[in-house]
Amino acid sequence: MLIDNHGRVTNYLRLSVTDSCNLRCQYCMPEEGVSFAKRSELLSWDELFTLAKVFVGMGVNKIRITGGEPFVRKGLMSFLEKLAYLPGLDDISITTNATLIGPHIQALKKLHISSINVSLDSLDRQRVHAITRRDSFDTVIANVHQLVDHGFDVKLNCVVMAGINIDDIIPFVHFANQNPINVRFLEEMPFNGQSIGGKVLEWDHVRILALIKSHFPRIEKLPTSQSSTSVNYKVPGGMGSFGVIPSFSRTFCGTCNRIRVSAKGHLQTCLYAAETVDLKPMVRGILDPEGLESSIYAAIQSRYKDGFEAEKRLTNIQSMTLIGG
Ligand code: SAM
Ligand code: SF4
Repeated sequence: MLIDNHGRVTNYLRLSVTDSCNLRCQYCMPEEGVSFAKRSELLSWDELFTLAKVFVGMGVNKIRITGGEPFVRKGLMSFLEKLAYLPGLDDISITTNATLIGPHIQALKKLHISSINVSLDSLDRQRVHAITRRDSFDTVIANVHQLVDHGFDVKLNCVVMAGINIDDIIPFVHFANQNPINVRFLEEMPFNGQSIGGKVLEWDHVRILALIKSHFPRIEKLPTSQSSTSVNYKVPGGMGSFGVIPSFSRTFCGTCNRIRVSAKGHLQTCLYAAETVDLKPMVRGILDPEGLESSIYAAIQSRYKDGFEAEKRLTNIQSMTLIGG
């Protein structure tokens, strides 16, 4: 079991398999001028698998595949097939924009990958187009329904943005009432690849919840696992549920069980931390591969207490597509 310097069990790896994406969500990256990693800079599928094995050997039992957009990288399904048979790995899940997942749904089901998080920030086609800078809504919503029909545990991630999609909050709660889906409202984080810091968050978790309560006064709080970042609720009689994720307010750091590895092999122990450990030279055998486990262990023994402590050192401009959401 991997336990960090604050006594938190660290068993959840978010593994980014690419920094590229076919969308350009406003909160994630600029429309133009994003310099994606060269192929040689990205970990190969074999290297990603080696890393996954090492982490699982050290106590990670849950891996979420993310990006960038995982499905833009050729070879994802073969990688998942290998991962699905990795002893000790109990849970594989994926975060995706669901534009390209359609043809793979049956295969994912066969691999027992049951939990898929889909980014969808509006139920209005035009608004999704404006937010993602691509006309993606019809494909995404069709794939969301397909995933539900195939019995996946589907969560929709909606980043709440002042002046942009506030009018979507209540329709999304209705959507969660009518479908067996968990809609999660995420506070917007200052990671759009262009600017950081000094941001005043207009729509925090308290305000989001207050708006929902004003329309649905009888909502019930649901029990949540200790390490969940989402505080979940249900409208009585609804098929699904909704949650609020205080990604900016960071009220969940005390039970954080997650670490991230970027597509270039950088280990990051907090979303808000500037420091990363470059695991690539060890995975590639340029530096002593034996050092891999001890480097991971050392990083986990020097985690920040919370995202506020980490942020004090954050000076460079970041995007979630680089960090791995
Ligand atoms: N492309 C996939 C997707 O969009 O689901 C996976 C990668 S994306 C970076 C992972 C998650 O990060 C998405 O749910 C996205 O909404 C979230 N995200 C990206 N930038 C964000 C920001 N500035 N604030 C809050 N969430 C953000
Ligand atoms: Fe792409 Fe996901 Fe970032 Fe949107 S949030 S630009 S879909 S990586």
